[in-house]
Amino acid sequence: MRRLLVAGNWKMHGNSASVKALLAGLVNLTWQQQVDIAVFPPALFIVEAVQSLKDTPIIIGAQDCAIESKEAALTGEIAASQLVDVGCQLVLIGHSERRLLLGDTDSILIEKFKAAQAQQLKPVLCIGETQQQRENNQTFAVITSQLNSIMDTLSIDVLANAIIAYEPVWAIGTGLTATPEQAQEVHSFIRSLIAEKNEAIAQKIQILYGGSVKADNAQALFAMPDIDGGLIGGASLNADEFGAIYRIAGNK
Ligand code: PEP
Repeated sequence: MRRLLVAGNWKMHGNSASVKALLAGLVNLTWQQQVDIAVFPPALFIVEAVQSLKDTPIIIGAQDCAIESKEAALTGEIAASQLVDVGCQLVLIGHSERRLLLGDTDSILIEKFKAAQAQQLKPVLCIGETQQQRENNQTFAVITSQLNSIMDTLSIDVLANAIIAYEPVWAIGTGLTATPEQAQEVHSFIRSLIAEKNEAIAQKIQILYGGSVKADNAQALFAMPDIDGGLIGGASLNADEFGAIYRIAGNK
């Protein structure tokens, strides 16, 4: 039985006051023994999050890392070694906003994925199709190509120490959510693609769903057999809403 993970991607949101308030809210959540919980603050607030949440089970992640795994002359970037040094355990790789707006190509993402694992930072590989790709029946082709780009270049074994987040781009921040059946169809496809190469890794890997998850749709999504939790954007900025999603995950 896979553990569920409820993870909050704060994106480029928050300031000194709002982050302090959000962290104070998170400290007061009721811990669910069978569910993992993580937050991905903007890099500026990672150290504060690590300190504020040190007595909680909340895992801290970064939203991106550099292609070089260790300190180097790369202005504006953050190395996986630096993220680990301040207490990060996870890193998002290939969030659609970075793929579509910030130039993260498959080949750059391979380097970032590799750099993260070189420092024992666990990658959360984000994959998903755009609305147009879905309408053109390219969903499975896009997922296959995004996943194969990692599996074929680095080997299937790297997925033994990674998490996948299926995030249909059309559902991110739009209020549109994939139906539980639509999400399950893709999650099961992802697991079968991995199983073709390694059945044990496929059964073990956590596959999160992301795309407008809220307290009122989480139950139906998390009930699906291949959905192992959620990557939550907007709703993770409110400790009560995020806490409610986390509690729902505890009911699976
Ligand atoms: C995300 O940014 O990963 C995300 C899923 O955002 P939202 O929940 O706001 O759609």
